[in-house]
This record gives sequence, structure tokens and C-alpha cells, in this order.
Amino acid sequence: FNKKHFVFDTLLDGVIEVIHQANPEFKISRMGDGPKDIYADEMRIEQVIVNFLTNAIKYSPGTNEVDVNVKTTADQLYVGVRDFGIGIAPELQKSVFEKFYRVEETSIHFQGLGIGLYISAEIINRHGGEVGVKSKLGEGSEFYFTLPLVSSPETE
Ligand code: ATP
Ligand code: MG
Repeated sequence: FNKKHFVFDTLLDGVIEVIHQANPEFKISRMGDGPKDIYADEMRIEQVIVNFLTNAIKYSPGTNEVDVNVKTTADQLYVGVRDFGIGIAPELQKSVFEKFYRVEETSIHFQGLGIGLYISAEIINRHGGEVGVKSKLGEGSEFYFTLPLVSSPETE
């Protein structure tokens, strides 16, 4: 990793802008509080946000809204990407972070390798954070990651 200090919100706003330009029909709203300094590999964190946002759009046919929820506690950043798409059945929600896993019933309708969430989980775990999903089949999903707000250069 190539870790450094940067302002998370600046990165997030930039990524949202780029994803919005590629998907102008989608309204991507960012909810949550102000600028936060984090110590992380900026390109890798960018990759995670891109993966979550492109999934949120890809798996939400017929909708045009994605919300990005940013919350902070004393020592942790929470970023949730909320969609109103196809959702994921409860028993499959753990599996989607596995390498090459794709939900079988819907895989013929959507292109992909099944690698994006696996890579995202690896990146976040190696930064001392966690990934997860809250979802209801047919209603939508919130994929989230957390990152420690204060982490020292020696934790690699
Ligand atoms: P790629 O490697 O190109 O990202 P992918 O999108 O299929 O391909 P992942 O991003 O790892 O792979 O996602 C794994 C699977 O999890 C998807 O195939 C899909 O079945 C399910 N999934 C991921 N994001 C969502 C979402 N926002 N809503 C519903 N299902 C999702
Ligand atoms: Mg994907």
C-alpha cells in the first residue's frame, strides 16, 4: 500500500462526480458530515468506492437514485452506498464478498466477473476496516465499509 493522509470527502466527491458523468441518469446524493482526514492508500479506497457505486447502478435497473451515507464516530469512518435495486436474499449476503461469486439467478442479466467485492473487501480489511451489506430482496441494498479514523503509519 501507498498510504498517506488525505481528506476523505474530497476523494468521495470526485468519485461521485466521475460516476455521475458516466451515468447521468442517476442522481447520486451524498449524505453526512464534513471533511475527515484519513490515513490510507487513496487509489485503493477510490477503487472500493467505484466498485460499490458501479454495482449500485448496475444492479438497480429501472431506478435512478443512489445515496452515499457518510457517518463518523470517534475513531471510525462509515461509508454506505445505498441503492433501490434488485437486492440480495439473506442467505446469499455473506457470499457476495467471495472471489468469483455471483448471484446465480440474476447473473445472466448482468455482466461481471464477480471479483469487485472480493477485491474491495481485501483492501478494506488490510486497512483495518470492515465491509458488509444490508439488503432486502427486491427493495435494495446498502453496501458499506468502515475505516479507522486514526491509524498510524506502522500498521501495514
Ligand atoms: P465485477 O467483478 O465486474 O465487479 P460483479 O459485479 O458480478 O463483477 P462483484 O462486484 O464482486 O462482481 O459482486 C458480486 C455479486 O454480488 C454480483 O454478481 C451480484 O450478484 C451481487 N451484487 C453486488 N452488488 C450488488 C448490489 N448493489 N445489488 C444487488 N446485488 C449485488
Ligand atoms: Mg461489481
